[in-house]
This record gives sequence, structure tokens and C-alpha cells, in this order.
Amino acid sequence: MRIAIFGGTFNPVHIGHIRGAISVYETFKLDKVIFLPTGIPPHKKDNVANAEYRYTMLKLAIEGLKFCEISRLEIDSNRVNYTIDTIGELKKELKEDNLFFVVGTDAFYYLNLWKDYKRLVDEITFIVIRRPEYDTKIILNKYAELVDFEEIHENGKYPTQKRKVYIYTPPAFDVSSSMIRRKIRNGECIKYLVPEKVENFIKEKRLYQ
Ligand code: ATP
Repeated sequence: MRIAIFGGTFNPVHIGHIRGAISVYETFKLDKVIFLPTGIPPHKKDNVANAEYRYTMLKLAIEGLKFCEISRLEIDSNRVNYTIDTIGELKKELKEDNLFFVVGTDAFYYLNLWKDYKRLVDEITFIVIRRPEYDTKIILNKYAELVDFEEIHENGKYPTQKRKVYIYTPPAFDVSSSMIRRKIRNGECIKYLVPEKVENFIKEKRLYQ
């Protein structure tokens, strides 16, 4: 099976995440996309909603998307998780080697801060989704010695491969979780930026006020 893991804080999940997952699924001809919400995020500590709430919002957001799943591996672990360890566990759990790891350009830029990142690029094939506000030249230069980049423009069964990083530009959605949180704090409307059920859940639980 061709499976992509989409890691993130999802605080909250928004249409950029969901449409990104759908585009990656179609472009890379995948069988499954597994969202991997962080438990205690190593980098982000500010105004992070409780893991169960973030999980519930993801569940509401993927309703009807049969190829999407959510892994509770990190949120159930009660400690800071590092991707290298989680990937090892997921490989065992899924009995699967054809794994891709999806990240946005912004997250990939800081790859050198991830635990054992040089080993990580041997363990998993990255799909970097380009975000409109980030220039990919910076990451191409920063990691040119470490990995082999390939820009993807057409749909295809691109193989998993050590030290390979696919760069893909999905239709852009200029939205981020911090933008959603800011809008809520400012009393602005978030309609259509997150799925309706997620919007209702945020209101009901009074999140991010
Ligand atoms: P924040 O604004 O709090 O930093 P975020 O919107 O970037 O959050 P994360 O949960 O940190 O959301 O993101 C998970 C992954 O999704 C990251 O790899 C990130 O780059 C990617 N991502 C986030 N927003 C988008 C978007 N609009 N389009 C494509 N990818 C996105």
C-alpha cells in the first residue's frame, strides 16, 4: 500500500490541511492518508487545545473521506514525540515500508532541528507541499547536500526512495491554524476556512478565545 502520513498540531485543522491531503492522495495515487496529530508538540506550546479536542476536530473534518484515517499514536503517548520514533512505530504497526511523510514548506525548512533528521530521510520519503508564502529556493539550497529533490507536476505512482524529497504545489489555500486562532480572538468570522462541523465544535467548546 502507498500510505502518506500527515503530521501536525492541527490546532485547529483547517481547509488547507484537508485540501492538501486530498491533492496529495490524488497526485501521488495513494491508498491512504493518515493524519498524525501531535500529543505534546516539541516546538509549539502556545495556546494548544487539548489533544482530544484536536483529535475530535480532525475526525469531524475527515467525515466522508474514506481514504483518510487518524493515528492516535502520539496523542496517546503522554510525552513529547519525535517523528523518527513515531515512524519506526508506524512502520511496525502498519507492516508497511511504502510510507511518505507530508509536510508544508515551512515545517520542512526546520528539518535540521528534528531529532536524527539525517536518519529520518533514509527512513521515509518526504512530500513537501509548497505553501504560497514560502520560497522553496531556500529549502532547496539548505538541503541540497542531504536529499534529492524532485518537483512533481503530474499525477503518478512516484516511488518511495531513501533521501528523496518530492516537492508538490497543491492549489493554494492561504490559511493557517494561527490565522484561525487570531480571527477567533478578534471576533472575526472563520466560516469556510474550517469545515462547518469544526467551526461549530470550536464555538461549543469556546476554543481559542
Ligand atoms: P500554525 O499556524 O499554528 O503554525 P499550521 O496551519 O501551519 O499551524 P500545522 O498543524 O502546524 O498547521 O500544520 C501541519 C502541516 O500542514 C504542516 O506541515 C504545515 O506546513 C501544513 N500546512 C498548514 N497549513 C497549510 C496550508 N494552508 N496549505 C498546505 N499545507 C499546510
